[in-house]
Amino acid sequence: LVRIRGLQKRFGFHTVLDGIDLDVRRGEVTVLLGPSGSGKSTLLRCINHLEKPDAGFTEVGGEIIGYRRDNRRLRELPDREVTRQRSRIGMVFQQFNLFPHRTALENILEGQLAAGVPRKEAAARGSELLERVGLGGRESSYPRQMSGGQQQRVAIARALAVRPELMLFDEPTSALDPEMVGEVLAVMKDLAETGMTMIVVTHEIGFAREVADQVVFLDDGRIVESGAPADVLTAPRHDRARAFLSAVL
Ligand code: ATP
Ligand code: MG
Repeated sequence: LVRIRGLQKRFGFHTVLDGIDLDVRRGEVTVLLGPSGSGKSTLLRCINHLEKPDAGFTEVGGEIIGYRRDNRRLRELPDREVTRQRSRIGMVFQQFNLFPHRTALENILEGQLAAGVPRKEAAARGSELLERVGLGGRESSYPRQMSGGQQQRVAIARALAVRPELMLFDEPTSALDPEMVGEVLAVMKDLAETGMTMIVVTHEIGFAREVADQVVFLDDGRIVESGAPADVLTAPRHDRARAFLSAVL
């Protein structure tokens, strides 16, 4: 489903992504690991074109995000086309970014209403999604009336509302109190089991071991190690990967 080729991103003189090649098959979960500053968030942001790469591209479902092919060259797409493409990709952040003055349901409706789904239909789907993330009946709760774990589950429901083909998670549990990490990981695991294609940045090694089909280790803007969790997590070949894993385990 996802094909990343030669992705490069610089901020000034600093090369943050240095030629990333990565494939993610439909229905598979890829966990992205790496030290702080290695480029994990930038990679996710380049995938949905929140950040424009300096070279290379990402293809999702055969479409290049942000560009169209014109003979053999890539031409930039107009913003509204990029927005349409981006709506096929759900994203969940460390900070849940819910609207504080809107209820759980209203937060979830946002994207659907913007996409022209009739309110009644959107609300029905919203309730169904709340149910799915274990928050059935919490439609009219405001973010401040919910725990961090519950808010993050609303954020996941919101990302799912527009029926994305691909879900990106950027350290979805690292802002949570420890007792709430499990409930969010459980929702993510369920989602993986329903066949959602996911790319997840997380330091939760247990989740990687149990749920990932592929683990990718990023260091200084490059993929230094990738493979099945059993291989990468138990017998990393690269020094930095080994050091990182012994620090987080
Ligand atoms: P963390 O684990 O801390 O979240 P990360 O692996 O997600 O780290 P990124 O956020 O992708 O790392 O950042 C990679 C590098 O790019 C860092 O050195 C960061 O300072 C730099 N960087 C990220 N965004 C910008 C920006 N908008 N402008 C300038 N530099 C940036
Ligand atoms: Mg990050």
